[in-house]
Amino acid sequence: MSDANGATLGARTLRVCALYPDLMNIYADRGNLLMLERRCRWRGIGFDLTASGLGEALDADAHDLFYLGGGQDRDQRLCAEDLLESKSASLRSAAAREAVVLGVCGGYQLLGRSYTLGEQTIEGVGLLDVRTAREDDRRLIGNVAIEVHLDDADGDSAGRVLAGFENHGGRTTLGEGAAPLGRVLRGHGNDGRSGCEGARSGNTIGTYLHGPLLPKNAWFADWLIARALAIDVSQLAPLDDRLEDEAHLSARHAAGL
Ligand code: GLN
Repeated sequence: MSDANGATLGARTLRVCALYPDLMNIYADRGNLLMLERRCRWRGIGFDLTASGLGEALDADAHDLFYLGGGQDRDQRLCAEDLLESKSASLRSAAAREAVVLGVCGGYQLLGRSYTLGEQTIEGVGLLDVRTAREDDRRLIGNVAIEVHLDDADGDSAGRVLAGFENHGGRTTLGEGAAPLGRVLRGHGNDGRSGCEGARSGNTIGTYLHGPLLPKNAWFADWLIARALAIDVSQLAPLDDRLEDEAHLSARHAAGL
């Protein structure tokens, strides 16, 4: 296995930073980190995990992938303040050098421009041109499947399916600077109306899919690993994915696909 520069991938290490892993870990979102770790280690790729919590500074150059999971509104408030104070400048500079930034649900909302709850508007990091607001008390809950097109290299690659579970009170609206991550096949997506789910800007991705997301969508875990290591996904050694394929199929079926 070798990368574009001829160096073996075994000599590479994926450096991951988990933001607020204790506060932003609803629906076992931490499973996404485990999935990244296993798929790297099974291939002999190193895996280095750092946590960055409240009050801790963030080194923009020390990580290839930044991860922010989902959370309750009260925990999101705490994290939002801290993000703005001690981390958003670093996150923006990491995104500018094309590090991967992945936000799930509450994390997705915080990567956007704002999250409005009644009278209060929480300012987000602004990496994604989206805004989220609580509209009423009805939460958007259920199994969800979306179709995504991620390979911008050839432009016309077949769409792939991400399947998971959503549970959010916030409705997210995309601004002109954001593209949806995918098209809703089943479920609610960003707002239950637009047919769009998640958002993407370069290597910054936000989605409402829990599950956790990556164990149910192994292909997406590999896509993220490849992006973060700046290699083509075809350079990752194939793995025995029988269990992962079953998990994916079962999530698709649960969503009604
Ligand atoms: N608190 C947010 C909402 O309800 C996000 C919830 C979550 O992460 N599941 O919209």
